[in-house]
Amino acid sequence: MTAAPKIQGWCPGALRPMQSGDGLLLRAKTTHPRLSAQRAHEIASIARDCGNGLIDLSQRAQLQLRGVSEAKLEQAQRRLAALGLLAEDAATESLLNFLVSPFADAQASALVASLAQSLVKDASLLALPGKFGFLVDDGGALGLSASTMDIRIEAHGDDVAIIADGARAHAFLATPETACDVALALARAFLDLRAGREFELRRMRNVVATFGLEALAEAAALTPTPYESLCRAASAVEIFGALLSRDGGAKEERAFAGIGAPSGRWRADDLDALAALAEVHGLNELRLTPWRALLLPCADLEAAQYIIEVAACRGFVIAADDPRLAVIACPGAPECPQAQAPTRDLAEILAPLAARLASEGVTLHISGCAKGCASPAAAKVALVATPRGFDLIDNGRASDAPTLHGLGVNEIEDAMSARIMRATSREP
Ligand code: SF4
Repeated sequence: MTAAPKIQGWCPGALRPMQSGDGLLLRAKTTHPRLSAQRAHEIASIARDCGNGLIDLSQRAQLQLRGVSEAKLEQAQRRLAALGLLAEDAATESLLNFLVSPFADAQASALVASLAQSLVKDASLLALPGKFGFLVDDGGALGLSASTMDIRIEAHGDDVAIIADGARAHAFLATPETACDVALALARAFLDLRAGREFELRRMRNVVATFGLEALAEAAALTPTPYESLCRAASAVEIFGALLSRDGGAKEERAFAGIGAPSGRWRADDLDALAALAEVHGLNELRLTPWRALLLPCADLEAAQYIIEVAACRGFVIAADDPRLAVIACPGAPECPQAQAPTRDLAEILAPLAARLASEGVTLHISGCAKGCASPAAAKVALVATPRGFDLIDNGRASDAPTLHGLGVNEIEDAMSARIMRATSREP
């Protein structure tokens, strides 16, 4: 029997790294998606000097250095501190979980800064679980509607809407000045309601499902209103390539080059190369996103196009129709101790088939175990490694019941081909 995946219940930071199969995993937590080219070079250098040179971009738009040795941990922390990427202590670090619009406008940036300051000042909030986080969407074109965090804060006309995960049909409306207080009131209400049931109720959606939105609102002394979000989910054609976009408060469009890496995995040399492109042809900075992509702001579309051409030569993902975008895979073996098999090579092999399972989106999720860290969403096909091969789940999550068991690569290709043929034959 396969052992049940271990639930860690916390996210790694730089002060509290996570032991992984390839060494320590350090997350360089940041509350803002802007990364100067200079800082990107230094992060690449730390990854090479202290780790194995691999850097993951997480679904929360945070950079993670892999394979850091115990002997180099102190050096990595010292160098991250010099970049302003180290919190005061591990408890503070665990609170700073933010996902913010990649081109966050001034209002969204000010709100994040104010939330981060308030969080670390209130000792009662240290009880928030390590995965509890805040999403701030400035209402721009590159919207975060497809991402999930415990508390969403969205631009909504002149108002700011604060939404509890699990209850997106209602919001607590605030002004830009009161939004931080409302969000923190919800966080405190979450803690009050789950008291005594901390292990069971680790996320806002669990609390909402258990007690209801009304109980949460009452505990927060707030009044919810029915809500229809004005924010949107950015699509791949708006993220990858040389593009123009408009952020929440911008009057003019901005040019950028959107560049991805399969499953969000970068090598230190990749990050160096992109930072150098940003210095010479861009506006000297990169933006972190939850879409496995880095965005390089540029003065104009021509500069963005040049960067994309160079990125294409290096094998990066530079277009929405790249088949590699149809697959998401967790690190797998040997990097994760819970993994039953490697996943990333299989992702490369199966990408062309995955891209044919549906016309867009992630269609194939490859998971080293049933925990399914790479994606909480259902995929057309999910493959879960077991000691006897891969189990295949149709239209589901990694934790769902498999349709087929113990498959090898050839059998997986056959199964996926059969599903493509069935889908094609149903098309008018
Ligand atoms: S899903 Fe992947 S990364 Fe997560 S615990 Fe399992 S093997 Fe490890």
